Amino acid sequence: MSRRKVKWEEMFPDEMDRAIEEHPLLYLPYGMCEPHGHHNALGLDGLKCYELCVRAAEEGGGVVAPLTMWHIGEQGIGVSWLERQNAPQPYISTMGHELFVQGFIWHLRAAVARGFEAVIAMTGHYGGTECDMRSAAAVFAEYAPLPMWVLADWECIAYKDYKGDHAGPCETSQLWALRPELVDVSRIPQHEDGERVFASDLQPGEASRTEGDRIVRSQIDNLVEAGNRLLRRSPGKLEDPGPDGAREICADMMSREIEWVYLMSRERHTEYWSAEGEGGKHRAKTIETDGAMP
Ligand SMILES: [Zn+2]
Repeated sequence: MSRRKVKWEEMFPDEMDRAIEEHPLLYLPYGMCEPHGHHNALGLDGLKCYELCVRAAEEGGGVVAPLTMWHIGEQGIGVSWLERQNAPQPYISTMGHELFVQGFIWHLRAAVARGFEAVIAMTGHYGGTECDMRSAAAVFAEYAPLPMWVLADWECIAYKDYKGDHAGPCETSQLWALRPELVDVSRIPQHEDGERVFASDLQPGEASRTEGDRIVRSQIDNLVEAGNRLLRRSPGKLEDPGPDGAREICADMMSREIEWVYLMSRERHTEYWSAEGEGGKHRAKTIETDGAMP
């Protein structure tokens, strides 16, 4: 059986027409190149996210938009994070927070304009970025009631206690399952327990490709199920706000007093992710739903 074609940029127009007609769901994948230990490719976050979207669309239908690898880092909370990672040249592909969140609005507008009726926007680079994407999506939804699930990829895991990490057993196993040639545990240097080397304190043997297969399987199942549910909620084709509309939504968003999580002070950020904070509560709810879309 040949797999259905799902990559937007590889489709012929008639294939795109058919894909949208059959299952008008668009996956928007995000990630960023950044240090993930010596044993993982720099683009782990984006590659992991993209491959998950591709597999989910191949199984459940839908189209996968081109991967966005320019993301939020090296500003806000990313500065103090990076300082602690023992990664002198981090090889990060960052852009300004204000550009990223506005770019995201344009991506959502493109989804509507191209005839999609639901969106799953997923970022493999998380810890605040996903919250800011949700804030932007909420503004967009005031203009176009597009059914959306905006999430960090760990939020759709339903296998053991894996809930994401950074270059650790979870993420390394995920990439190992999805792009085995981009993980090489023989590159892990000798280091002290707990010592960060290129943003990883992973010890050999903690990650596993078979564990990765199971983590990824649970994610694909939850993505396919969420996509079906979003489409059942679809109000049909939406009116395209157009490029001028996208600009207007961006201007409106940037004029609001939105508390961007990635730009919080370190103290406020810690409080946000604590059990009593909004982030902590969202995290608890996500764990409760076992990776299913709330
Ligand atoms: Zn990562």
